[in-house]
Amino acid sequence: MSEWFFLLIPVAAVSGWWAAKRGNARRGISGPTSDPAFFRGLNYLLDEQPDKAIDIFVKLAEVDEETAEIHLALGSLFRRRGEVDRAIRIHQSLILRPNLSKEERSYALYELGQDYMGAGLFDRAESMFRELVEMKLHRRRALEGLREIYQQEKDWTRCLEVAEQLRLLTGESVSTESAQYHCELAEESLKHGNGQQAVAHLNHARRVDPDCIRATMLQARIAMGQGDSRAAAELYQRVARQGSQFLPEVLSDLVDAYRRSGLEDELSELKRLYRVSPNPALAMMLTDVIQEKEGDGAAIVFLVEHITGYADLVGLERLLDLYAPKLAGDVQTQAAVQAMLAVIGHLRSCRPDHQCEQCGFVARRLHWQCPSCKHWGSIKPVQPESIGDCAGTPVDRRLA
Ligand SMILES: [Zn+2]
Repeated sequence: MSEWFFLLIPVAAVSGWWAAKRGNARRGISGPTSDPAFFRGLNYLLDEQPDKAIDIFVKLAEVDEETAEIHLALGSLFRRRGEVDRAIRIHQSLILRPNLSKEERSYALYELGQDYMGAGLFDRAESMFRELVEMKLHRRRALEGLREIYQQEKDWTRCLEVAEQLRLLTGESVSTESAQYHCELAEESLKHGNGQQAVAHLNHARRVDPDCIRATMLQARIAMGQGDSRAAAELYQRVARQGSQFLPEVLSDLVDAYRRSGLEDELSELKRLYRVSPNPALAMMLTDVIQEKEGDGAAIVFLVEHITGYADLVGLERLLDLYAPKLAGDVQTQAAVQAMLAVIGHLRSCRPDHQCEQCGFVARRLHWQCPSCKHWGSIKPVQPESIGDCAGTPVDRRLA
């Protein structure tokens, strides 16, 4: 979406004032927005020609220093063009005007808050947004601004307070973010060696969002740290049930928990888990264990079945690796296999490991908050596509 789409926000604000001014004009009250140049400026905004719009609004502002909407539009345009200092000066001078209406002042406060955010002056932006919340004007946008500030500052307790205010104001669920804030607090407690407090935060997280995978992962980590590997294994298995695509994140810890808990039949446990959550990363782990316990032939049989269900490049690469030693003496086929492995390696390197479901941002590792769109829990490990319309089911059948 174009950056200039957001300019429609000041356009809408300015248009609102214009409508009010037009009402005044009908009642015989003149205003500077009756100047045709004002509409030319609006048209330039809508045509995504902000520089021309700025030229017009600057001239209008020179002619009439009192018109708040022109200064608001100008300030917003300067900020979006990266001239934050200029935007701050315009909005600061606006809010100092004694004759400004309450509505005009509230717009100027919000814009100034945005300017301060753009300049990284979070404490000043916080004051602007807090004043708006107290004025009960633009409360949603002001609360969202406060939430953004507290997230940047990693002040998770205040994030929780603002999320609750937003929930009460809008009636919209904030359970995903709130659970993540509790998880952030739990991680901080763990860093400071306070496991008990971490558990309390995680209990809160699960109360507000029972599906919070991160809370389950942290609970498992705590259980492992306390030496309760059986409980940890159960929790890691719960991760698979809550979202099998997250299994790669915990798989080695899960196997570690199996081994530490003295589980003798690790292979059966992994097969059972694979039937429930046929995840490609789990398939690779299973291949290792099958190869170790039952030999290359059994591992090949399993992999052939697996990649029949998934367009899994890692699985295919592993299958060819297992086959390669069987081709000793067959120089031509060996060369073909090496060529296939090179292609697979290239395709794998082009595929993202993690991707945001909201904005498509590609990441090398799991982030709980998307660095691009700031959504929580939207970045997930990328899964190979299932072949045909049989995702999950063929594996159940084969391993039964
Ligand atoms: Zn995103």
